[in-house]
Amino acid sequence: MPTDWRRALAIVAHPDDLEYGASAAIATWTDEGREIGYLLATVGEAGIDGIAPAECGPLRVREQRASAAEVGVTSVEFLGYPDGVIEYGTALRRDFAAAIRRHRPELVITLNHHDTWGGTAWNTPDHRAVGRAVLDAVGDAGNRWIFPELAEEGLSPWDGVRHVAVAGSPHPTHAVDASAGAERAVRSLLAHRTYIEALTDEDPERYCRTFLDGMMAAAGRRFGGRPAVAFEVFSH
Ligand SMILES: [Zn+2]
Repeated sequence: MPTDWRRALAIVAHPDDLEYGASAAIATWTDEGREIGYLLATVGEAGIDGIAPAECGPLRVREQRASAAEVGVTSVEFLGYPDGVIEYGTALRRDFAAAIRRHRPELVITLNHHDTWGGTAWNTPDHRAVGRAVLDAVGDAGNRWIFPELAEEGLSPWDGVRHVAVAGSPHPTHAVDASAGAERAVRSLLAHRTYIEALTDEDPERYCRTFLDGMMAAAGRRFGGRPAVAFEVFSH
């Protein structure tokens, strides 16, 4: 995994998207003194069947902030796109490009933009739209003539993104040793407690541990044996 970066911005669709794996890598990176911010397109208000959106949104914002804090991330922003029906387009690209110009990261992290998680496990429309718009917005952020209104608002172009790391991709190219971050990754996923309690009858901690251990062991089998988080990395 590239190490030639100091600042990262993680852009995903929903609360919990980064906690199903990526947060183990994020914990090891914040340990090294790297700066990481989170930007979420939605507040995840449509994510829990038994809780209406007006109540669910604020609750998931609180859980996401607590979850980020477990892995050393304090900057968490929400764009407020409608959960479940995000449309790929220039509005999304503009908002992501604006955030990239504000944060000036060398690494951008996002979640699987492919149609599936591998095989026939269909991905969700929000993940596809957001992931693709993130990959596109990296170019937009560096070009002053795309979204010229951003420069007028004082957001100068930023062409310093060297890599985009896609978590959960069915085509991983790189991996991070997750040994040091694994325990905090479990706590960060567990922080989405209301969501997880609605998702499964299993004990929440056992559910988080089983899922993450399995995922990190599977990545480790391909990348040198130790528990790992795998990414598909696009370099510029
Ligand atoms: Zn999601």
